Formats: sequence, structure tokens, C-alpha cells
Amino acid sequence: MAQTQTKLAFRCPGCGGVNRLDPGRLAHGPKCGRCSTPLDTSGAPLDLDDAELERLVRSSPVPVLVDLWAPWCGPCRMVAPIVDQVARAHAGRLITVKIDTDQHPRTMAQLGARGIPAFALYRGGALFAQRSGAMPRPELETWVRSALA
Ligand SMILES: [Zn+2]
Repeated sequence: MAQTQTKLAFRCPGCGGVNRLDPGRLAHGPKCGRCSTPLDTSGAPLDLDDAELERLVRSSPVPVLVDLWAPWCGPCRMVAPIVDQVARAHAGRLITVKIDTDQHPRTMAQLGARGIPAFALYRGGALFAQRSGAMPRPELETWVRSALA
């Protein structure tokens, strides 16, 4: 396996830059190499807007999972803990993002998604896969792994 494959990637909450870390640095309170903001290495989903997502997709060395949701959407709330679990399980190997489609409708329009929740996976700067509707954890897990392979 190539050296770079062993590094983990985290988006800085301060400047939005993606930091690559050796797994051994996780225990030492890693900070952003550019702006020194402490990095959240939990893998928990990040609330971003459309422009922030675009920038992340272009710069991320690991796949990006996007959860398109809205506060009024029951199935979105139902699937949220599942997304959170899958996101944390793949911390550093996947960056998970939530887009509130009421506030930020552009990504949803670009994807042509007709309903929410909707999900998109980006890899290597491009759309890898997308789907609509809530799903149980094993199904989301399998779908996400298709991009991690
Ligand atoms: Zn930073």
C-alpha cells in the first residue's frame, strides 16, 4: 500500500483546508497546518454550504459523503444518527458533510435530487454515486464502502 494511503484526512473548521495526518498524531491534539485551529478528528458530519462543499470536493484526498437534509424532514432526522455513526466509523478515511437544503439548495439542484434525504458520494473531485431515501445502517455502510475501495 502506498505511503499516502495510510494518512488520514480532516477538514479544518477554521480555514476549511484539508489536513493529512499520520494516525499516530491523532492522540496529540492535532492542529491545522495552515491556521493552527484544533482539528476535529471524530469524523462527525460537518455542516457546510454549497461553496464550502465544492471546495472540499476539489481538495479532499478521501471520499466525501454528503447528506442533503432539511429540518422539517422526518426521514432525514431518522437517518441522521445512522449517518453520524457511519461517518465516525470512517473518521479520516471519509469526510462527511451535511447540507441544509432549505438554506443551501444549489447542490441538490445540481444533483437533480427530487426528494430528501438524498446522498452523494464524491471521489477524486467528481461525483461517484448518488441516491435518495433513508436507508438502514448496513445499506449505507455498503454504499459508502464502494467509494472507499
Ligand atoms: Zn485551518
